[in-house]
Amino acid sequence: MIEPVAVIGAGPFGLSTAAHLRARGIPVRVFGDPMVSWRDHMPAGMILKSTPAASSLDCPQRGHTLADYCDAAGIRRLVTDEDIIPVETFIGYGEWFQQKLVPELERVRVVSVGRYKPAGFELKLDSGELFTARAVVVATGLSGLAHLPAELGKAAADGPAGPVSHCSQHHDLTRFSGRELIVVGAGQSALETAALAAEAGAQVRVVSRGRGKVAFGAPPWDQPKLRPESPFGRAWSLWALSYYPHPYRYLPAQTRHYLVRRVLGPLGAWWLRDRFEGKVQVHEVAAVTGADTFDGAPVLTVRTHDGGTDRLTADHVIAATGYRVDIAAMDFLGPELRTRVAVSRGAPKLGAGYVSSVPGLYFTGLPAAASYGPVMRFVCGTEFASPRLAKHLAAAHA
Ligand SMILES: Cc1cc2nc3c(=O)[nH]c(=O)nc-3n(C[C@H](O)[C@H](O)[C@H](O)COP(=O)(O)OP(=O)(O)OC[C@H]3O[C@@H](n4cnc5c(N)ncnc54)[C@H](O)[C@@H]3O)c2cc1C
Repeated sequence: MIEPVAVIGAGPFGLSTAAHLRARGIPVRVFGDPMVSWRDHMPAGMILKSTPAASSLDCPQRGHTLADYCDAAGIRRLVTDEDIIPVETFIGYGEWFQQKLVPELERVRVVSVGRYKPAGFELKLDSGELFTARAVVVATGLSGLAHLPAELGKAAADGPAGPVSHCSQHHDLTRFSGRELIVVGAGQSALETAALAAEAGAQVRVVSRGRGKVAFGAPPWDQPKLRPESPFGRAWSLWALSYYPHPYRYLPAQTRHYLVRRVLGPLGAWWLRDRFEGKVQVHEVAAVTGADTFDGAPVLTVRTHDGGTDRLTADHVIAATGYRVDIAAMDFLGPELRTRVAVSRGAPKLGAGYVSSVPGLYFTGLPAAASYGPVMRFVCGTEFASPRLAKHLAAAHA
């Protein structure tokens, strides 16, 4: 029997990769909970920051774009840059895509991956099944990579029920109704979490590091016209990073890591401004230096811009402090495999076709951003990644 390829992950990247592999006739087993990051780890009522043109899962089969889903579901077609995408619609799209193109998805977790011979892998599932695969694609996305800075980490040990939590631990923000909430961060996730909690009846303050960091993008009709269009707005840098990520991995490591953090970095979506301003307070600080609890409530210690120290209290603190790729946190990869994967600041170093330094072991989505650029943090990155990964894998493991 021909050993299958294992795709670990059923978010946009796993599903898109699986669709490409299947279209090439490659036997594939796909594992994961479809669209779980969007369903359980983002707030209900959220709206996607990406435009409809940048929110389709890539596949070689025609008829599977977000607009095709809208037609099939009998809802209004989302196509122009002014059309906003509710997260619930996007989840419905991902699940529809999965049912049509990856129907054999197995809703189980992969608990371990190890090498079983020079050219293959042994996987263990949480059903207890052991099997071998000729290649493995890691598409586990945001899972396990939520980042809490050290100064907040201690107070966050109790999870969402404790005084400090990460935004990925919340789906239903109505639980903060009538309570005081601090949101740490200035990116889209922080600003939208704050707006949604305020709309749910919470009294919300955003604590932002630096000055003037809380800002919103220009609406589509005010975007500069003389710059090239990209899925993220009009700018030469965004255009190059979206359509030409090939040379990215040849840039110096420092530049690559900087760009992943900075390009498409903290900026609220244009449609969020009116829901945020006047409803959420912004507290600018030089730095958050610590978090403690007093009588079960969080106390944030901050350094003020004049060099003093302040203490901020609330009923709860949500850290919207992003995600950080660290292969050490991917504990389903066996220790021997993890130590053999060449990394740069915790992220796997990938070659052509998204293959790591271990032949047959591929990474796509967020873990590939350090090699292929910030576009890999977004759904539209599937357009570049999935066909190339599938082509490389087909050639190397036919
Ligand atoms: C608040 C927020 C808003 C965002 N908004 C946008 C947006 O508007 N537009 C955009 O393009 N991007 C947005 N993003 C980024 C987006 O989340 C990613 O682009 C996308 O989800 C990455 O897809 P993925 O398939 O790599 O991973 P995920 O969607 O995170 O999926 C991970 C998959 O891996 C599976 N998995 C994990 N571990 C295992 C295991 N051991 N065994 C089996 N399966 C496993 C899970 O079950 C899941 O199916 C947003 C992110 C956040 C946090």
